[in-house]
Amino acid sequence: MQLVDIGANLTHESFRHDFDAVLDRAKHHGVVQLVVTGASRDGSTHALTLAQAHPGTLYATAGVHPHHAIDYDDATDALLRELATHAEVRAVGETGLDYNRNYSPRDVQLAVFERQLQIAVDVQKPLFLHQRDAHHDFIAVLRRYRDRVPAVVVHCFTDTGEALRDYLALDCHIGITGWICDERRGTHLRELVKEIPANRLLIETDAPYLLPRTVRPQPSHRRNEPMFLRHICDEIARDRGESPEHTAANSTAAARAFFGLPSD
Ligand SMILES: [Zn+2]
Repeated sequence: MQLVDIGANLTHESFRHDFDAVLDRAKHHGVVQLVVTGASRDGSTHALTLAQAHPGTLYATAGVHPHHAIDYDDATDALLRELATHAEVRAVGETGLDYNRNYSPRDVQLAVFERQLQIAVDVQKPLFLHQRDAHHDFIAVLRRYRDRVPAVVVHCFTDTGEALRDYLALDCHIGITGWICDERRGTHLRELVKEIPANRLLIETDAPYLLPRTVRPQPSHRRNEPMFLRHICDEIARDRGESPEHTAANSTAAARAFFGLPSD
């Protein structure tokens, strides 16, 4: 079984002390390619560095998360545009809107989201998007750009069926994380995941965040890592009523097509 983790925050400091062991464990659990999320200025540069150091295994995105939108200036825009020219950078993002925490004001988030959408239009690379508690504004902006970008994934989808159908109608891909394993807030996803066409269902850990609550035993450090993608795949397969091998093969093919990754 081969899996692709389309969202791993491997630039996070919690991976610094055992980075190679994390990649080894991932590979041992079938995770053969990973897309390292760039979510800030420095993080996006770091993500590219990691991808360059692990050709064929790690790839990167380049973007600024809505939490950090307040830090986005012309120099950031120029940096993201430069990063996006590199072959290892396979998508623009993580960008989007997050009205759950509002670490950056909403009007700033909207402006910075549009600036990164324009980068994707200009470089013609896919978009890696984040949306939390902001569907109404998010879909309104995305509708204006969708025809001008090659592909879009709404990563870590956690929203309602109505939101899901809006994204599918815009021909978006959907990223599902271990949120689906959360009996407190993710149970609705177990039904919704059946509605996602197999060629548009991507799977991700969002490590080190979102440790699946059904992993046994729970690691004492509470850090999520890419090896748990296999567990997420198994849970999604059960919810969709298909074999883990089937879910894995389809999501891996979809991820490789989306990000232009080689198959071996
Ligand atoms: Zn996110």
